[in-house]
Amino acid sequence: MKRTLIVANWKMHLNTSQASLLLHRLHERIKIHRDIEIVLSPSMLVLQPLSLQIDRRKFRLAAQNAFHKDEGAYTGEVSFTMLQDLVHYVIVGHSDRRYKFGEGLDTVRDKVAAAVRNGIVPILCVGETKNERLQGETMQVLHDQVVSAVSNLTSREIHDIVIAYEPVWALSSGTDYLHHEIPKPGDIAKAVVAIRNDISELYGKKASESVRVLYGGSSSASTARGLMEVEGIDGLLVGGASLNYHEFSGIVDGAYRMRRAEEG
Ligand code: PEP
Repeated sequence: MKRTLIVANWKMHLNTSQASLLLHRLHERIKIHRDIEIVLSPSMLVLQPLSLQIDRRKFRLAAQNAFHKDEGAYTGEVSFTMLQDLVHYVIVGHSDRRYKFGEGLDTVRDKVAAAVRNGIVPILCVGETKNERLQGETMQVLHDQVVSAVSNLTSREIHDIVIAYEPVWALSSGTDYLHHEIPKPGDIAKAVVAIRNDISELYGKKASESVRVLYGGSSSASTARGLMEVEGIDGLLVGGASLNYHEFSGIVDGAYRMRRAEEG
């Protein structure tokens, strides 16, 4: 059985001491569980100090972004090569990057390939905007984003990647996650089927089953279990609620209880 994956996207929040304090609090509350993988994604600046503090049996680190060239005259950028020893994962194609920083399909594809080339697992975010949803374009958007992002991967490389279904309209502004609209379980399940079908058509059924698919968008301790129970969902990408240790440890707790129930 695949390990449940819970990813905390801290976005552009928390300086080094605030991040260290949050890690300390999470460490006190979160237990080691062999079937659950917890990944923290702080700002680039905080990755190094956090890597020295982290209990690697409990937590792994992810970068929120990186540049797809391995080195060169790219002032201000950090490459996947530089992150190799620091992180297991990297978030790629997040809607903040697509829509606030103009990252198009080609850039996302290059970043996915660069991550894999450097031994870092990409967490590829895909999802439709509110307008695309209202126009009935959700499936086409998911198809375009998934197919183009993985197009430079080999059939061996595809197995390890993670895809997060993050409908852009469901993402919180950081603090309103408890009151935000989230998709119906049936709609999430349909999106997951569409994502796996795309992978299956390109790389076969086995690959489509081994790719882990997460849901992201305004999840919280009270909604996490229901979201994780959606058919085909292997975990959550959590934004706003991951900055609050009660909420985030509650989400992890939901995952524990779910895995225990499955184990019977
Ligand atoms: C995100 O931005 O990746 C995210 C999941 O945010 P939130 O949970 O705050 O909607």
